[in-house]
Amino acid sequence: MDFTFLPTNAQSILAMTWLDYEPYYNNLEARKLDASTVNAWLDDWSALASCVDEQFTRLQVVVSQHTADEELQAQFDKFLDEVQPAVKAADQKIKEKLLASGLQPKGFEVALKMMQAEAEIFCKENLPLSAEEQKLANEYDRIMGDTTVMWEWEEKTYWEMITLYSYETDRHVRERAWRAIWDRLYENCEAINELWGKFMAVRLKIAENAGFPDYRSYIWKQKRRFDYTPDDCKSFHAAIEEVVVPAAERVYERHGQRLGIEATRPWDLDVDQFGRPALRPAKTVEELNSKALNVFEKVDPKFREYYQAMLDNNLLDLDSRKNKASGAYSLCYNMARLPFIFMSHTNTAIDVDTILHEGGHAFHSFESAHLRYHQKAEVYVPAEFAEVASMGMELLAAPYLTQKHGGFYTEEENARARIAHLESFLVFLPYMALVDAFQHWIYENPIEASDGITCDDKWGELWDHFMKGIDYSGLEKYKNIFWHRKGHIQTDPFYYIVYGLAELGAVQVFDNARRDQKKAVENYRKALALGSTVSLPELFATAGAKFAFDAGTLKDTVDLMEEVIEELEAKL
Ligand SMILES: [Zn+2]
Repeated sequence: MDFTFLPTNAQSILAMTWLDYEPYYNNLEARKLDASTVNAWLDDWSALASCVDEQFTRLQVVVSQHTADEELQAQFDKFLDEVQPAVKAADQKIKEKLLASGLQPKGFEVALKMMQAEAEIFCKENLPLSAEEQKLANEYDRIMGDTTVMWEWEEKTYWEMITLYSYETDRHVRERAWRAIWDRLYENCEAINELWGKFMAVRLKIAENAGFPDYRSYIWKQKRRFDYTPDDCKSFHAAIEEVVVPAAERVYERHGQRLGIEATRPWDLDVDQFGRPALRPAKTVEELNSKALNVFEKVDPKFREYYQAMLDNNLLDLDSRKNKASGAYSLCYNMARLPFIFMSHTNTAIDVDTILHEGGHAFHSFESAHLRYHQKAEVYVPAEFAEVASMGMELLAAPYLTQKHGGFYTEEENARARIAHLESFLVFLPYMALVDAFQHWIYENPIEASDGITCDDKWGELWDHFMKGIDYSGLEKYKNIFWHRKGHIQTDPFYYIVYGLAELGAVQVFDNARRDQKKAVENYRKALALGSTVSLPELFATAGAKFAFDAGTLKDTVDLMEEVIEELEAKL
């Protein structure tokens, strides 16, 4: 059977049905597998898996581009109901065949370990449940996508409102905008809590079906976390509380003093400390792209080439419009071996941070495109390292964001943007610990936590533990539902910790670049190109970092960030 007959263009890929895929799976299952045939067999499997994956990715993309288009939604649902379960079942047989063969193809050791874990958690009864969970996630995106506010006779999206209250220099307007969006989010409570109960029921059933004592142990295996445990996460939370919470409090305090306010309220967190108007890095998407090209080039000319290829192939959706899902992502079309970036342009510093972040992910796809499907960045690379690619890029690019390099800012503006960025890295860690600790509580107390209102109270309690320095008095009802807007808690349980672990890696890469930029970027690219052919600690090591949770490593990174902030303060 000729696997080159698999479709390669978007239209034909989107039209694939299970009946189209089935003969290919049957062929792989029936073929003789030994040392002499394994490479060709893997190549064919890789092509087939890439095609299915690209169909899924393309559907995800179009649905997020048009949240109100019911026809597209129905098409996606059809894929989830009809194609995906059949494919997963067929794929499981192929995995078992490879595992049973005892063959250890070179460069496939890590993938085999991952497959072993997947085979262990596989359970046919869970296929419709996974599809159900995906639909709940789509429903969540729809609720958030529909969340608009009438603001001065204009309908504003949720993200437009966030930027409005974040950067507005008039404190009264900021507060009014903040309250408008949170009053609107409060109206979603019932819908979100009802959805939450459904999420929990599906997840608990999935863990039970797969034979796990609880959902967390299931997810640990599902996320293929071989290199750390839930207890490590808890030590990490404790280390953050010890080392980072005081540093974050220093940030809020400095901020409040400069703003000349008595208490830092939730609408005061992102506004410029000196009351300067918001940074406007790029008026249009075209401007954002042309400057991004220059900045990426300074990090490494190869990155400009990659970004240019994305522009040439129409692989960026960056503008802001209604009925577009919130958030940002980079996904890979694995047949085409090209990534796609999605975000909503706001002409604020967030755009720059986001394009660098998603750019890092996209370049990971380019660097690992030479590998087979199961070794590539999107498939088995641990997220803890995938986010080093993205957060590392945010920091590697930071020195080149000035107009001198063809970038977005004057020297002073860049110092300001970088301080804000590093401060956001500092204050992120306590928030990350909160989101992660909350989820440990949820899945350790699944019955109580199936009730959204109980979760609201627990979230509020944990918030006070980690989020010191922000005054929420009188706003408790909003504080307690803050987790409703945290998409990761809703749709990607236990993922959030990876940002914290990756941040530690990214800051170490940045530390290396401060000493030797060329060498640091070289190691970074080497690690990206490895895909998932080595373990998580080895990926970190190749990038020049240590995979760690301890207070010591954490303290070194916090000290470095505070040191750089001080250097930049001198440029203001
Ligand atoms: Zn990311």
